[in-house]
Amino acid sequence: MTSYLMSSAYIGGQWISDAEHHITVYNPATDEPIGQIPKLPISSIIQAIELSKASFQQWKGTPPHIRSRLLHALCDRMLEKQEELAKIITLENGKPIKEARGEVAYTASFIRWYAEEARRIYGETIPANSPSNRILVQREPIGVCALITPWNFPSAMLGRKVAAALAAGCSIIAKPAENTPFSALALAKLMQETGFPDGLLNIVTGEPDVIGKIFCAHPDIKKISFTGSTQVGRLLMEQSAPTIKKCSLELGGNAPFIVFADADLEEAIQGAMASKFRNCGQTCIASNRFLIDSKILKPFIDGLLQVVPLLTVGNGLEEKTDIGPMISLSAVDKIQALLQDAVSKGAIIHLGDIPDGTSKFVSPIIISNISPKMYIWHTEIFGPIIAISTFDTEEQALALANDSIHGLAAYVYTTCPSRIWEIPEALEYGMIGVNTGRISMAQAPFGGIKQSGIGREGGHHGLDEYLQMKYICQKL
Ligand code: ADP
Repeated sequence: MTSYLMSSAYIGGQWISDAEHHITVYNPATDEPIGQIPKLPISSIIQAIELSKASFQQWKGTPPHIRSRLLHALCDRMLEKQEELAKIITLENGKPIKEARGEVAYTASFIRWYAEEARRIYGETIPANSPSNRILVQREPIGVCALITPWNFPSAMLGRKVAAALAAGCSIIAKPAENTPFSALALAKLMQETGFPDGLLNIVTGEPDVIGKIFCAHPDIKKISFTGSTQVGRLLMEQSAPTIKKCSLELGGNAPFIVFADADLEEAIQGAMASKFRNCGQTCIASNRFLIDSKILKPFIDGLLQVVPLLTVGNGLEEKTDIGPMISLSAVDKIQALLQDAVSKGAIIHLGDIPDGTSKFVSPIIISNISPKMYIWHTEIFGPIIAISTFDTEEQALALANDSIHGLAAYVYTTCPSRIWEIPEALEYGMIGVNTGRISMAQAPFGGIKQSGIGREGGHHGLDEYLQMKYICQKL
């Protein structure tokens, strides 16, 4: 077992375990226990906030080039340990090891990006009306940030928040998902080895609702950054209202994947595979509703039927695996219910079977004829299901695509030059892939509109989430 799998919480540079009060974490592929994390008492959470506050006072005054140097060193170390870290991701989340390696590289790319951005937190001067006035605008770190992250990318969802927060000069208290805490703890260990000060990153574990309430209510926490369900995001925003906290929320999606008849069909099928099956379909930017021009429905389905059955389902630790287990049996139950509802209302199955709910290993399923009267239309599927509908006109495609409370990612395939501009402009989504199913990278602002969230991660935009503006008017 890797030395980076820490059965502890991490507070003030100390590794804290609890033999009596703990949560056991299981490998979703085998149901075997892989470690434990303590169910921390409220007093430990408060102590971690206090240590974060003390650490902030020191870190905010640390010159940006030193912050940058430490982040570069962290990135280097993470890449050195890529294999060990990937194994932890696969053990706790189940995803194929080759995807887990990619996740580590993706996390490292954000650390590298923000190591560079740390040196570029510029202010501005603005010409005043009076010659004796000077207007200055500064950007300052916001303070202690509470980060709450989900299980689907246990390394990346935390790493991209941590990188931006540290670059900005903030300190951190983080709560990873209780079923995938070890990648977060491994990041803490890497930071400790790299020489970051104790108390700068604290990882707390325990009851999510209790910890969430403390984070939101505590006056010394100035910011909440959350990735997870819309339901919990809404609750955190509500709980943060009394202390008027800045919130960044990266919530659920319902991505349309639109293919016009003029598209390069082979590329569209490749894009569909890339955007759908990563992490067994359990990603917030996974294509949820495939909207296909009715003229090319048959060749699109035929094309999928040539490649989708080639995917290997199995234990993620095996090199040949393309699709690992779903995270839990309740996640399987959810897709079973969505499929049963869809089929009862007229959906047609082209590949696969409705899962019976006894196994977390689910083979890909292709269905067509889905419509807005089905739950699958409005629900983030989070499973290996390609759900297809058709359209006849551009207007219809847009109306169907925008028929969602969510607005995270959308994909469009077309070779028509005017559509390449017009369709993304008309789509009510925060991120649009045009002729590509891969859109997430460190330089770009990741995030949604509508009920998919507030704020951005990545790019220079992601840094602003951890900064506040100060305007200084100076009379000479
Ligand atoms: P998912 O459905 O992907 O598990 P959740 O929104 O339930 O999404 O979980 C995402 C993160 O939010 C996890 O770390 C989880 O422990 C945490 N969480 C769940 N409920 C709450 C809550 N009431 N307060 C704070 N955090 C919560």
